[in-house]
Amino acid sequence: SRADEAKAMVEAHTLLKRFYHHLLVHTKEGQAALDYLQARGWTKETIDRFEIGYAPDVPDAAVKLLESRSFPLVLMEKAGLLVKKEDGRYVDRFRNRIMFPIHDHRGETVGFSGRLLGDGQPKYMNSPETPIFRKGTLLYFFHEARVPIRKRQEALLVEGFADVISAVQAGVDYVVATMGTSLTEEQARILRRHAETVTICYDGDSAGTEAAWRAAEQLSAFGCRVKVASLPDGLDPDEYIRTGGAGRFAEEIAAARPLMAFKMDYLRRRKNLQEEGDRLRYIEEALREISKLSSPVEKDYYMRQLADEFSLSLSALYEQLSRSKPEQP
Ligand code: ATP
Ligand code: MN
Ligand code: MN
Ligand code: MN
Repeated sequence: SRADEAKAMVEAHTLLKRFYHHLLVHTKEGQAALDYLQARGWTKETIDRFEIGYAPDVPDAAVKLLESRSFPLVLMEKAGLLVKKEDGRYVDRFRNRIMFPIHDHRGETVGFSGRLLGDGQPKYMNSPETPIFRKGTLLYFFHEARVPIRKRQEALLVEGFADVISAVQAGVDYVVATMGTSLTEEQARILRRHAETVTICYDGDSAGTEAAWRAAEQLSAFGCRVKVASLPDGLDPDEYIRTGGAGRFAEEIAAARPLMAFKMDYLRRRKNLQEEGDRLRYIEEALREISKLSSPVEKDYYMRQLADEFSLSLSALYEQLSRSKPEQP
């Protein structure tokens, strides 16, 4: 049955997770990968806690292990662990990669993300969509972060697996990440169910900033209070923690700004406010964002800010606001 198949898939993932972790921490084959991880600043405890592993550079390590435990290879291919070649033989999907096990919200191992040891493409390779691994419904580390998130009524959302791991090592445990895709409605709904506030701390580059805006809109639509932390110099949380330390990272998170302040800053940065045309465009764009606010107090707060900044009368701004319709999503 389907349930039996799902159960066998989870068992196979659990078995391989332990196998890969063993190879990483106890064998010569895994030594280069272990060196790489420790050079990234991750301790033995962190590597154990996240059950990080190493998939060896051979075509059939998983095939052999799964076969020896009598897992049907057809099913293992459906589980995303093996790939069927044209000649009908099976080979491992993951090879010579650092393996990050991915758990569902109950803590069952349902997928992997495999990272190259150094540079190259593709940097990360994820399990494909399977009956047990549905990227759009999962959040990395949620099975452990759920309790801290509920307690704080706040979740920290980052882009990458490495960012979660470094944040946790730095003492921030209410952190989750998507699977390298943009935040889905389902993920936003899950976060809203557990927390009032979501603080977004995506990579400090332009891709990260744009993705942060989109995630913020998605979360707002589900009723989350959203804050955004912007890291300098294009750094991501993992890099920022490594160079700036845990304390500085905690300060950046604490200094996260309300969504509207982030938006106004974002819009402003892409304009030259010395120029009249840009200044007018900025005011219109800011008004469009302000018009989306539901709280009249908040609306008034940003209207006054805008009026002050550009020496405009509040009544003229409100007149303009009444004409500015939020864009249909
Ligand atoms: P690292 O620090 O290990 O280099 P990162 O998390 O900083 O990784 P980014 O390039 O910032 O990597 O990407 C963020 C996330 O996007 C990754 O954690 C991963 O989930 C996903 N991702 C990145 N590259 C790929 C890829 N080639 N294929 C699939 N997913 C990817
Ligand atoms: Mn990035
Ligand atoms: Mn990154
Ligand atoms: Mn990174």
